[in-house]
Amino acid sequence: MSAPLEVRDLVVRYGSTTAVQGIDLDLARGEVLALLGPNGAGKSSTIEVCTGFRAPDGGSVSVLGHAPGDEAVRPRVGVMPQGGGAYPAVKTGEMLHLVEACAAHPIDANYLIDVLGLRPRAGTPYKRLSGGEQQRLALACAVVGRPELVFLDEPTAGLDPQARHLVWDLIRALRRDGVGVLLTTHLMDEAEQLADDVVIIDRGRVVAHGTPAQLTAGDQTELRFRARPGMDTAGLDARLPTGYATSETGPGRYRVQGRIDPGALAAITSWCADQGVLADDVQVVRRSLEDVFLDLTGRELRS
Ligand code: ADP
Repeated sequence: MSAPLEVRDLVVRYGSTTAVQGIDLDLARGEVLALLGPNGAGKSSTIEVCTGFRAPDGGSVSVLGHAPGDEAVRPRVGVMPQGGGAYPAVKTGEMLHLVEACAAHPIDANYLIDVLGLRPRAGTPYKRLSGGEQQRLALACAVVGRPELVFLDEPTAGLDPQARHLVWDLIRALRRDGVGVLLTTHLMDEAEQLADDVVIIDRGRVVAHGTPAQLTAGDQTELRFRARPGMDTAGLDARLPTGYATSETGPGRYRVQGRIDPGALAAITSWCADQGVLADDVQVVRRSLEDVFLDLTGRELRS
């Protein structure tokens, strides 16, 4: 069986702007791939090519073994674009049953209405739904045809935490059913929660690729603890090898940045003991995916 998605050396240009400069992506069945990047990184351009809305200017894309947008493959792919896209007067239930009726082997639309919390709004016209409800309906429409591959462009943007968890549960259910899910998101915790694989792109190029655990592993950890306020942090730094930095981030709250290996931990606790202080609430904190993302793509605002 062909992989849901294989992208090789993809290039997308708009006139003299090269938006995507040689991206590779691989998505297997039953896998969630998160495509992350700041605004303007090239995510939408990549998805437009993968969904057959735009022809590539270079490289190749294979969707379930076919060219994107190929007639043979279209019913096997679900797309949830940003900003919904339903007739304003159509009612929630009607819309979903309409899409269900077009599919050969649909998922039961009533099940999706329940699972996405839309039952009380089943008779409400699309234009009267809240933004979050419109988004959940768009997601239901993307998956009701029982696709083998789905593209979800910021599926939980603007949703409240309850709705976000409903959507996460549905994405996990899709994965269990062997669906390949390509997801874009600005929410790093969403990528950490859901993704098997993460690709971070910036200025049209892949800047990092790996599982969330691989991307957040490494030496950059920190240790936090509580003790009495006003301790001599320079004294602790002097006990540690070069490259460690201790600061008091609030009264009695300390942070030691650097590689927290067993030797460093022992040095910190023995220094506390020498001061007659019991370090409390000691935590070794790994870098989050958000730290990795900001390190790679910078902290300046993108348009
Ligand atoms: P993202 O989805 O990551 O925000 P996009 O794929 O939308 O990124 O955009 C990538 C780059 O291509 C940006 O510099 C953007 O300004 C440019 N771009 C996107 N669409 C067009 C277009 N239709 N015409 C010209 N430039 C575009």
